[in-house]
Amino acid sequence: MKIIGDNIYTLSLAGNPNVGKSTIFNLLTGMNQHTGNWTGKTVECSKGGFTFNNDRFEITDLPGTYSLLSFSKEEQVTRDYLINSHSDCVIIVADANAVERNLVFALQVLSVCDKAVLCLNLNDEAERNGVIIDENKLSEQLGIPVVKCCASKNRGIKELKQTISEVCKGETDCRINYSLIEGLNICDYKLHNRNIRELNKTASEICDECVNKTGIEHVNLRTEKLDKILTSKKYGIPIMLLVFGLLFWITVVGANYPSQWLSSLFSFCKDRLVYLFDIFHTPSFVKGIIIDGVYTTLSWVVSVMLPPMAIFFPLFSLIEDSGYLPRIAFNLDKFFAKCGTHGKQSLTMAMGIGCNACGVTGCRIIENERDRNISILTNSFMPCNGRFPILIAVTMSFFAAGANKLVASIEVALVLLTAIVFAVALTLLISKVLSVTYKGAPSGFALELPPYRKPQIIKSIVRSLLDRTVFVLGRAVLVAAPAGAVIWLLANITINDVSLLKYCTDFFNQFGLFIGLDGVIVMALILGFPANEIVIPIILMSYLSCSTLTDYTGYEQLSQILHSNGWSAVTAVCMLIITLLHFPCSTTVLTIKKETGSFKTALLSMAIPMALGIILCTAVASIARIFY
Ligand code: GDP
Repeated sequence: MKIIGDNIYTLSLAGNPNVGKSTIFNLLTGMNQHTGNWTGKTVECSKGGFTFNNDRFEITDLPGTYSLLSFSKEEQVTRDYLINSHSDCVIIVADANAVERNLVFALQVLSVCDKAVLCLNLNDEAERNGVIIDENKLSEQLGIPVVKCCASKNRGIKELKQTISEVCKGETDCRINYSLIEGLNICDYKLHNRNIRELNKTASEICDECVNKTGIEHVNLRTEKLDKILTSKKYGIPIMLLVFGLLFWITVVGANYPSQWLSSLFSFCKDRLVYLFDIFHTPSFVKGIIIDGVYTTLSWVVSVMLPPMAIFFPLFSLIEDSGYLPRIAFNLDKFFAKCGTHGKQSLTMAMGIGCNACGVTGCRIIENERDRNISILTNSFMPCNGRFPILIAVTMSFFAAGANKLVASIEVALVLLTAIVFAVALTLLISKVLSVTYKGAPSGFALELPPYRKPQIIKSIVRSLLDRTVFVLGRAVLVAAPAGAVIWLLANITINDVSLLKYCTDFFNQFGLFIGLDGVIVMALILGFPANEIVIPIILMSYLSCSTLTDYTGYEQLSQILHSNGWSAVTAVCMLIITLLHFPCSTTVLTIKKETGSFKTALLSMAIPMALGIILCTAVASIARIFY
């Protein structure tokens, strides 16, 4: 009996940026790569696989690039991989709305592979826009199978798998029409201009034959109209501030109640736990470590961090999915240009809002080493998942004091907005200083503005909850549990009736007070190096271990705890500054070392924000001392 299947095939996934490649990769593999409506999002090769009819298919998702002909890092990665990997089949994902441009890339890929499938994605949009593609004719011209897809609605993926399988097994005709790319040598940079000219001509000829685009002007007009407002000189920046202000306001209003509910739930469970421990006569030492150390810290991490993250990040994902992010980059471009750096820096900066390590990796979209280094060094000015909740918690505790809840929430949103604007301003300022220091000229900048898309609401929310919120929370919990135990031990092991924790905080106290903070905060920031998420719990734990241990029940109680430990509005402002400006977390520093290969740059990435933070905090504290 002949056994069918059980073979292993290798596939590569290539395409222009923002054509839905990650969405297709996720659908094929069942994995969860980050998707978003902007160019340059996938900068690393991801691997995954699927089984179809008993055969195994291993896919490598290559960074999205416009061509294989030039020098940027992601283009080199893609080109080298395609040339050296000898995949059984290359899946070229193309945007059905822009066949001509996508064909220019597809033809380059065909010149370095043996078998390929062209996947025309975003077909729903193309149909809506009146773009009619004759896929049979296109397939005939190119000599490879063409499959139409709509990845966001999971349409055409089964057919794509079937076709890939048939191509790999030689069951479908796949004979690349090499006459289209005669003479093309993508590795010869000297032929770059000639290559591009030829490719454009061929792509245009194929399109004339196979594509009829009657309605596309209408869509361009709609995008143009929106862009006229959203990227206009007059309204661009105010609208951007309004969008972010609104985002913060919704986060602030929404986070308060769940935070209280969660802490009540944790406190209820804590009582049961204590009861259980008492039944089993657990030694008080063990009870202390587990309940007052690990459990209490964990419950603080969850109730302080989860609510704002669960609101902010899904909303941010919706903005990302709609295509607004590149418009922000466009609005900020002129400021970056004035500072002598690269406009794409505004995109990597936006990525940093989620996670600085991602932002740093994202800097690969910047070709020029000098500009890339500047972007990397300034990325951590943007508050990441870990630091964002600190800003929210401190702001809510100190600046939401107004009797009127609406006024208070608007105040908090404005403080947060100011913090972000301050971070952007600082990014620009330090970029300017670095651009003068670093040798070399800034590179040119061409940012593609993708069409606006209706965000996939449910998917964006679910994905961002799983990818960002649960991931960050998981990391925080992993660090918080042992940190809780260590802090409890430090607080309860005494020498000469003074706890080790007190020795530590006393050690930093003078310096802390000098810069407008205190010893506890300084120690919490140092201990928070592995993950900033644990800074607030460490602060609470340290304060409460020195007084009676109360439960944290929302921001009001947090405010009480902080006030009774000597915090003033000046401390809160200094805390906001130092949260924005201290060393990035260990993961980010390691990523910087990996990306730049330079120990010095990694050290600089810690030293620059730390020095700035200390100087600014000292200035604020000194001015406050004069007036109070
Ligand atoms: P990549 O940059 O090529 O990896 O693109 P992504 O997979 O991140 O997708 C870019 C954007 O297009 C996201 O907002 C997706 O939700 C959206 N998208 C992907 N495929 C489709 C599709 O077939 N139709 C529509 N309308 N949107 C899609």
